[in-house]
Amino acid sequence: MLDKTTRCLMKAYKKRKVEKDIAKHRKSLAKEEEAFLEEFLSNDENREWAKGRRLEYLRNEKIGLIKKWSKLYFIKSENWFEELMSEYRNKITSKIKRIDMEISLYKKPVKMEGITDEMIARAKEYPIRDLLGDPVMNKYCCLWHNDKKPSMHYYEGTNTVHCFSCGKSGDSVDVYMELNNSNFIEAVKALSQSYV
Ligand SMILES: [Zn+2]
Repeated sequence: MLDKTTRCLMKAYKKRKVEKDIAKHRKSLAKEEEAFLEEFLSNDENREWAKGRRLEYLRNEKIGLIKKWSKLYFIKSENWFEELMSEYRNKITSKIKRIDMEISLYKKPVKMEGITDEMIARAKEYPIRDLLGDPVMNKYCCLWHNDKKPSMHYYEGTNTVHCFSCGKSGDSVDVYMELNNSNFIEAVKALSQSYV
């Protein structure tokens, strides 16, 4: 039979060992997670998806914060309380600013990939008629929903389409993106180069 001191020591030793094991396990998990993320984000498609999710999250956060802010704005209160409230509102405002900054960071690459406003304007002038062929009674079958009879109207004057069935509107860039399953940059590049 072990004496009390030895038992206590053994218990403490075991506890320390378990804690060490847990720390080690956590470290390896973190490494695994890092490796997974690295591999996951090395794929363009996944990166786009992750960016989209992040943007969705940020936008929802922002909407929540704005709602919170306006709720606080309408609370009438004592002076001492008002001070606290305005401090809280300022905190919310700076959080919103941070979110806006991150959102704008995500938007920057569009400009970096060699797209100019002039190219966008030229791409939007590319006749939709040249992409979809001649419309029937000024209508096409909608590209964005499973259209049984043509409900997407073509407006030659503005070179845009609008579907009266699903409500989607678009210009030549939107049409090109949908037809070719490409992104905005690819569409602008293709359309601005091929239109003379
Ligand atoms: Zn539609």
